[in-house]
Amino acid sequence: MGFVKGLKCRECGREYDADPVYVCEFCFGPLEVAYDYKGIKKVLTRKKIESRELSLWRYKELLPIDGEPQVGLTSGFTPLIKADNLAKELGVKELYVKDDTVVHPTLSFKDRVVAVALTKAKEFGFDTVACASTGNLAHSVSAHGAKAGFKRYIFIPASLEASKIAASLVYAPNLVAVDGNYDDVNRLCSEIANKYNWAFVNINIRPYYAEGSKTQGFEIVEQLGWKAPDNVVVPCASGSLLTKIWKSLKEFQEIGLLKDVNTKVFSAQAEGCNPIATAIKKDTDIIVPVKPDTVAKSLAIGNPADGFYAFKCVKDSGGHGDDATNEEIIEGMKLLARTEGIFAETAGGVTVAVARKLIKSGKIKKNGSTVLCITGNGLKTQEALQGHMGEPYHIKPNLEAFEKVLKQNREKK
Ligand SMILES: *Cc1c(COP(=O)(O)O)cnc(C)c1O
Ligand SMILES: [Zn+2]
Repeated sequence: MGFVKGLKCRECGREYDADPVYVCEFCFGPLEVAYDYKGIKKVLTRKKIESRELSLWRYKELLPIDGEPQVGLTSGFTPLIKADNLAKELGVKELYVKDDTVVHPTLSFKDRVVAVALTKAKEFGFDTVACASTGNLAHSVSAHGAKAGFKRYIFIPASLEASKIAASLVYAPNLVAVDGNYDDVNRLCSEIANKYNWAFVNINIRPYYAEGSKTQGFEIVEQLGWKAPDNVVVPCASGSLLTKIWKSLKEFQEIGLLKDVNTKVFSAQAEGCNPIATAIKKDTDIIVPVKPDTVAKSLAIGNPADGFYAFKCVKDSGGHGDDATNEEIIEGMKLLARTEGIFAETAGGVTVAVARKLIKSGKIKKNGSTVLCITGNGLKTQEALQGHMGEPYHIKPNLEAFEKVLKQNREKK
């Protein structure tokens, strides 16, 4: 069956059974899933993976489930786009976009983590799932939970974009909008999780949930022809995705699916919420919480749970980090859309804008291969672009009116 050995404290190394628990009783360190890599190495080959369906479950031996996948059977395996037009603008040779604007069913990479979390919740026998969310997680738990037949309690900051709230409500969860920012919502949820026997995907199920993020890294390697990229730029909220992309490369190496891993991992944040980027720039592992104020609401976690570990991955890999202003984020979204035809949400704008800075400063070398992790769809955050895109040509329905536009347009050039 599964290859999970149990949970292990990231700080003191103490081992636990694979239960719905997430902190070490002794040192309060976070718990992480431990696997039997020797066993996995015996059964999981490139050929075997390639023979499977195009979903995140093609790597199921490296995911923390005991039985067969039960939720999100068609989630994952998104395109890796060779981004030649954007590469030219940014001045690099080999650039790719990992396009998680099109993950099934809710168009962000959260569908990966939730597929794993809810499969695990089923295995544990929970009937109710819950989460604290900056938006995308709410969509994914609402949708995956609907299909899987769970009761759902979803907690969000009341200040979220109207379109993000609607995109949860349509799945008819119990949606709770809390007066406060994400960190307030998260604190409340920790209290609720202590009292009610629910599967809070990013609290008591967090060790399992977070593992789902590795599939983005596994896919990048497979889609590059079983090669690790030289650089990968990852947007950070709690910092979990970044740590798991790093872990995915190390695991593939551990089980012999990758020879060399010389990947530098780069952290991208918004200037209005940059605790991880700041620590990296100051070269200190002390993450100082901030009060978020940014258009990139999906990344607006001021006190990132995995900030310290994200910092460590960046440093261990020889990478770096930076942040982008609201204007740069919007420019980044527009640049990606204009060059590659990909409409990403604000988090994608953060990734593009920060990649641009890192290339300019020489932190990302021009001649290596670079992957940008684009994690959510722009249709979810259209408000952010209001007033930044120009206007359509507005004409009467006749040819003459149109040709007037055409003439003006040609004269402009
Ligand atoms: C949640 C999220 C991230 C990153 O989340 P982490 O907490 O750092 O794992 C990145 N992009 C989008 C669009 C997200 O919703
Ligand atoms: Zn411990």
